Amino acid sequence: MPTPIDSVLASVPTQLFVGGEWRDSSDGATIDVLDPATAKPLLTVASAGLGDAAAAVSAAQAALDGWRRTAPRTRSTILRRAYDLMTERTQELALLISAENGKALPDARAEVAYAAEFFRWFSEEAVRLNGSLQVAPSGDYRIVVQREPIGVAVLVTPWNYPAAMATRKIGPALAAGCTVVLKPATDTPLTALALAALLREAGVPDGVVNVLPAHRSGQVVGALLADPAVRKVSFTGSTEVGIKLLHTAADRVLSSSMELGGNAPFLVLEDADVEQAVAGAMVAKMRNGGEACTAANRFYVHESVAEEFSHRFATAMGELRLGPGYDEGVDVGALVNQAAQEKVQDLVDDAVGRGAEVLTGGTIPDGDGFYYPPTVLDNVAAEAEMMHDEIFGPVAPIVRFTELEEAVAAANRTDYGLISYVYTADLARGMRVAEALECGMVGLNRGVVSDPSAPFGGVKLSGLGREGGHEGMLEYTETKYIATAW
Ligand code: NAD
Repeated sequence: MPTPIDSVLASVPTQLFVGGEWRDSSDGATIDVLDPATAKPLLTVASAGLGDAAAAVSAAQAALDGWRRTAPRTRSTILRRAYDLMTERTQELALLISAENGKALPDARAEVAYAAEFFRWFSEEAVRLNGSLQVAPSGDYRIVVQREPIGVAVLVTPWNYPAAMATRKIGPALAAGCTVVLKPATDTPLTALALAALLREAGVPDGVVNVLPAHRSGQVVGALLADPAVRKVSFTGSTEVGIKLLHTAADRVLSSSMELGGNAPFLVLEDADVEQAVAGAMVAKMRNGGEACTAANRFYVHESVAEEFSHRFATAMGELRLGPGYDEGVDVGALVNQAAQEKVQDLVDDAVGRGAEVLTGGTIPDGDGFYYPPTVLDNVAAEAEMMHDEIFGPVAPIVRFTELEEAVAAANRTDYGLISYVYTADLARGMRVAEALECGMVGLNRGVVSDPSAPFGGVKLSGLGREGGHEGMLEYTETKYIATAW
């Protein structure tokens, strides 16, 4: 008797998607995609080689002229159809995401909704690529400024949001009139291939979207970026790889957008509503099982409320049900792979070795699959590695503070600057703290900020550029200034 997962897997394409056609890798290479819940193989997909990289760029280049001249209203309608199709297929896509990534179904369904919203939002933005017109200060001529699609864009995405990180790039690129080559993460290529099929069904012309899973990521992305037809790279992933790609992009002066790692502080001030702060902490920490660049990584809690906060937070974390992500009723699925599981355990062992107190969790459960239990550690030392490294798992370290200035200084003592969270009953004070925090986004009395209609992105080592909002589409355009008189 086939399970719902079997039926979903049976309909997923497993080949490369180039120029509107499905094809095997030019050198016959493949990737085995594993189920993190069981550590067993799910499907084998084609893995692109250098010949495929060249073919994909050439298909994107061939499609560019037609797509950039396609009426914005038509591009908008196609993107809107993609939103409708994704929304209709929420359950199938969510099962697929859970199967290859490990996340629990509520997180997977939330991802499908979030991912689809990028198609809806950018279908609305596609008809709003405004320019400007002004009289030159001399009065002699006019300054006409218009936005043009930048050209062929290479998109490289991580495994933690296999659908949303792809739609957050494809949506604005297509809205602006660009064509793309997407290189999804090696651990999670299935969702990207399913999206390619869905986009074709929505009416995206051949060659406008090409998808190349590749286990030799460095070589394949290197070849894509070296191709003279490529004008843009948009990357989401680790800071380490982002820096490498910026070096590569520099050789061709490629426009680069980088959404990189985070190390988010979560501040609970003495006047905060503790119940609300715990509810916010649960979302900020546990959305996507802790595998989010926006995940709260360090909790700074005022000592007057620390006891109550830690107790309530640990209780809520301890009540979450761990299990196979695709089973209904599970709150937290498996981590993506064994390396992730081992890294989280090493970080916990290091913090405990430096005196942290385990309030809940802290050890890998027996059995198969890459599970890690929701964990809360109290009184974590400032020197603990997890205070400096991205944990990327369901572990919450708590530090107590007495002076707000010290907490803000500690929050800023990181090379990263993606997002920060602040809980306080005093909105004006919260705004002052939000302005003092060095980051691209702040959740003020909110545990989640991601929204397709808002500019998402970081400062410092967390990245360059913004995705979502109106800014998200501008990343795929060049500004052209025409001086003229009439
Ligand atoms: P990663 O950097 O290992 O991989 C990201 C992508 O780059 C994958 O497609 C991978 O195959 C590819 N890649 C790996 N090495 C490469 C190389 N040498 N050259 C070219 N491409 C290469 O990151 P990951 O482990 O997939 O994702 C986790 C990281 O992503 C975390 O640091 C997380 O914070 C970050 N992230 C950031 C955001 C954001 O918006 N800021 C969102 C999600 C994830």
